Amino acid sequence: MPEIEQARRERLQGAVAALDAAAALITSPPNVRYLTGLASSNAAVLVPASGTGAVLATDSRYALTARRECPDLELLTERLIEPALARLAAARGLGRVAFEAHEMTVERHLAFAAAAADGGAVPDLVPLGRAVEQLRMVKDESEIAALARACAITSRALEDLLAILRPGQTERELAGLLERRMSELGAERPAFETIVASGPNGAIPHHAPGDRAVGRGDMVTIDCGARYGGYHADLTRTVVIGRPAAWQREIYDLAAAAQRAGIEAAVPGADLARVDGAARGLIAEGGHAEHFTHGLGHGVGLEIHEAPIMGHGQTGTLGDRVPITVEPGIYLPGQGGVRIEDTLVVRAGSGTAAPQDILTTTTRELTVL
Ligand code: ZN
Ligand code: ZN
Repeated sequence: MPEIEQARRERLQGAVAALDAAAALITSPPNVRYLTGLASSNAAVLVPASGTGAVLATDSRYALTARRECPDLELLTERLIEPALARLAAARGLGRVAFEAHEMTVERHLAFAAAAADGGAVPDLVPLGRAVEQLRMVKDESEIAALARACAITSRALEDLLAILRPGQTERELAGLLERRMSELGAERPAFETIVASGPNGAIPHHAPGDRAVGRGDMVTIDCGARYGGYHADLTRTVVIGRPAAWQREIYDLAAAAQRAGIEAAVPGADLARVDGAARGLIAEGGHAEHFTHGLGHGVGLEIHEAPIMGHGQTGTLGDRVPITVEPGIYLPGQGGVRIEDTLVVRAGSGTAAPQDILTTTTRELTVL
């Protein structure tokens, strides 16, 4: 829908004009996709500070798709997209161009300046900052619908896996079965590499699944997500095989209480540090402050980790229609760990509706297999 992308480009124009720039050069692939609708590994878009004349550059592999998806954009088909846009910017006399300094390499920056010099005058390049990422935090209903579908696929696939999980299966086998199930249910691909961490491996938050077979007495943490329509789901559950030991029940209940507190604190206008603190405070009170080693959660959308980030001293507030994860964990080195993660949309509640719409629906009660 070109109108949606056109409206997004218009929302970006304020940030470009504020820098006194004539245009913004957008090179981050998810940002290009957000502003044009084109999913490409080699595309960039030049968005003017005013008016509608954006220029999309991509190579011949994507040219047909670009013409179809972005009929309203001027299309430049070149293999070396940034030099081509640099020559165009110079030829059009753009005095100052804002660029994504957090994304462009020094090498590409030099190539841009060299090509612009060939084309005439080199524009003054100024950092745009994360202006597009800021816009991407608040989702429209079509984005939320894609994310909800990704989350539904993920929840169902995890439930189907738990129904067939048996002692003796390896972490790698379980990760493979889960990813195949997500694909059968309509996922484009996994949103990230599936984590299956059993027994003592559960103490490693991002453990890569290995040859360890799951067995009785293990806690098993599974962190997974499907991608659908470009949008990334994120869901973690920790289950126990056989009767849970007292320590397993204790850290599970504490993580679950912390997650409830984090979710309840995640309302429009909430300070990001306070949302993190609501969950972290409970874990600290339970005596496990040093065992919760990562942030409480992150935004999800066209990327699996995107703004806003909760924790690590990040500042800012939550807005309306912002999808985030809430994922406290407790990790006991050498022993095991637990993490409970859901993807939810923070919303300005209408009437009695809760301010959080939880999209991942797998039970949060401790599952005993
Ligand atoms: Zn996750
Ligand atoms: Zn996550």
